[in-house]
This record gives sequence, C-alpha cells and structure tokens, in this order.
Amino acid sequence: MADPDIVLLGAPASGKGTQGRKLAQELNLSFLSTGKQLRREVEAGSELGREAEGYLAQGQYVPDSLALAIALKWLRKATGGWVLDGFPRTLAQAQELDDFLKQRAQRMKAILLEIHTAELERRVRERRECVSCSWTGTREQAEEMGSCPSCGGKLVYRSDDNLQNFRNRHQAFVELTGPVIDYYDSSQRLQRVNGLGSVEAVFETVRAVCKGGNDGQAT
Ligand code: ADP
Repeated sequence: MADPDIVLLGAPASGKGTQGRKLAQELNLSFLSTGKQLRREVEAGSELGREAEGYLAQGQYVPDSLALAIALKWLRKATGGWVLDGFPRTLAQAQELDDFLKQRAQRMKAILLEIHTAELERRVRERRECVSCSWTGTREQAEEMGSCPSCGGKLVYRSDDNLQNFRNRHQAFVELTGPVIDYYDSSQRLQRVNGLGSVEAVFETVRAVCKGGNDGQAT
C-alpha cells in the first residue's frame, strides 16, 4: 500500500505540531510545518522571511504566494508519504495542493483537531518551544527540565504567542480555514478528531484514523 499523505487542520495551539511530528515519526513519513519554516526564514533574514515578517508579528496569515512557495518547494523534494502541519490554510492553497497532487489527491486525508477556544487560550499561555528542534511543551515542563528533553536546546515562549496575536490567528482560522474544512468534508477526505485529552490519548485516535480505522473516539 502507498504511504499515507496527511494534512493536519486545527486552530492555533490545537496540537497540530505535536501530533504531526509524532505521527510522522511513527509512520516514517516526512514532516513539514509551514509556520515553523516561515519563522526560520524570518530568523535567517531571507527575502521570503522579510516579506512574511509583518504578517507573522500581527497574527495574520501570510499571502498564499508565500505559503505555496514554501509548501510546493518542499513537496517537490519529498519522497514517500508526508504530514503537513499548517498547510493548506486557505481554499486557494487547498485547490493548488490538489492540482499539484493530481490523482494522489483523492487518497489524501485531512485530520481536523477539534478543541474549544478557552482551552486553546490556556495552551497558548502555557506553550514553550525549543529554539533548536521545535520540541513543544508546557511552561511547567520547561521549568522542571530547564532545557529541551529532546536536544538540550533552549526552551522559549514563542514570540507570536501573545493573546491578541492568538485571537487574530484564531479569527483567520475561522474565516479562512473554515472553507478548507468544508472543502475536504464535501470530498469525503475529512476526519474529525477530539483534540482534548493527553498527547498520548489524542495520538491514539489520530493514529487509528490514519491507518484507515476509527477507534470510536473521533467525533
Ligand atoms: P499556529 O497554528 O499555532 O498558529 P503555526 O506555527 O502553524 O502556529 O503558524 C504560525 C503562523 O504562520 C500562522 O499564524 C500564519 O501567520 C503563518 N502561516 C503558517 N502556514 C501558513 C499558510 N499555509 N498560509 C498562510 N499563513 C501561514
């Protein structure tokens, strides 16, 4: 059987990055976070990074042309199946992805992590990220461990994780990613998963859904 291609959808801080990385590792798939890649470009001061910087600082989606440049460049090089975290985020991006994938588009799965806004806001306040390897955890874990458990790197509060920025990103998610959810739903490619619960519990459901089954916890 061909390797799975998986798109992870969900509001900011719904757990896409955490679940996506675990899934890619478990199923031996390539992994791309367009958000992380954009932050890297900003840090590197590349032309793309300079164009993206203002949008990221304000919690707005970057223009489709930038998101597509990153994602398609990466997809052209990817071998085997993949997990995408944060792409596509708009209907235009989803349609471009389908055009790129051609027949492969129909067997792609989109997994939506569903979670209520109060919990998202709590997570954003608590979230800490490793500057080197992008491991993500909580403030409590960061204080306990002092450095990244995965690579020893520095754990920091992500610069775009303030509450106003989060609310802007959340509004963009509802307005612009809502149609992407409908698009995958109407083409029978959407799976909804309850994103509340421990990382391990959510992962069990995500994994079951990816392997074609559904252990009943998905909503
Ligand atoms: P989160 O999902 O918590 O917002 P990400 O790291 O996935 O965090 O994304 C950070 C930011 O990067 C987004 O809020 C958005 O501004 C930008 N971004 C990432 N992917 C895309 C995309 N496909 N289209 C437009 N903007 C994007």
